[in-house]
Parts: sequence; C-alpha cells; structure tokens
Amino acid sequence: MPVPGLAPYDPNNIFARILRAEIPCRKVFENQHALAFHDINPQAPTHILVIPKNPYVSIADFTALASDAEIAGLLRALTHIARLLNLDTTGYRILANMGHHAGQEVPHLHFHLFAGHNLGPMLANAG
Ligand code: AMP
Repeated sequence: MPVPGLAPYDPNNIFARILRAEIPCRKVFENQHALAFHDINPQAPTHILVIPKNPYVSIADFTALASDAEIAGLLRALTHIARLLNLDTTGYRILANMGHHAGQEVPHLHFHLFAGHNLGPMLANAG
C-alpha cells in the first residue's frame, strides 16, 4: 500500500532490476535485509550504495511501512559494511536523498556510503 502523499513504487527502477539480477552490480555485501554494491559513478574513492531488499521509494515510505527488523537490519548493514571495509578509524559519510529537491535519481531507497579521503563540507551549496 502506498503512503498517502508519497510516490508509488516503480518495480522497473534500476535497483529493483539489480535486486532481481536482471542487471549486474559489483556486490560488496548481502543479507536478508540489505544489498550493497559499488556506485557506477563514484563520487569518492569508496562509494557504496546500500539498499533494502524490499520495495521502498525513499526513507519516508521505508520508515512508515518497514518492520522494525527491516529498519534495524538496514542500519546495521550500513555500519557492518563500513567495518568490513576498515572505515571505522578513518571515518565515512552516509547520505540518503529523498525526492526532487535532494536530487534523488533512483526511486528505490538507497544510502550512499562515502569514504577514502577527506570528504569536505557536508553540502557544496545549500543556499
Ligand atoms: P541518487 O541521486 O541519490 O538517487 O543516487 C543514485 C545513484 O545511483 C547515483 O550515484 C548513480 O551513480 C547510481 N547508479 C545508477 N545506476 C547504477 C547502477 N546500475 N549501478 C550502480 N550504481 C548506479
């Protein structure tokens, strides 16, 4: 059931097709709740996308509709992957775009995990 006011899920978006293995990805990690793979157009030396297995457009419908186990599973996958990649000491940035003003391109919830050098200010231009 879509959440009132939020866009319905498009089952043909590119990450849905990756989840169905119709399109390849460079997989980093997978468990029952999450799939993680390298971004095709990396914006940092390490740029991983972490997505839920189930169909959510964004953080908004995810937090409205997902079970507590799914929410915890996805968040724990994020920090687990960071640890797998030895990022705890040097640090990393996690970012999720939601909707038009944030520039969300792919309508399946994804967390960007950036790392590998000094990532600079949080926003290039928020004005
Ligand atoms: P966003 O703008 O937050 O929706 O980010 C979408 C991200 O998905 C961008 O960083 C793209 O480079 C990335 N992307 C798009 N298609 C693919 C793909 N087939 N495999 C991996 N990453 C992709």
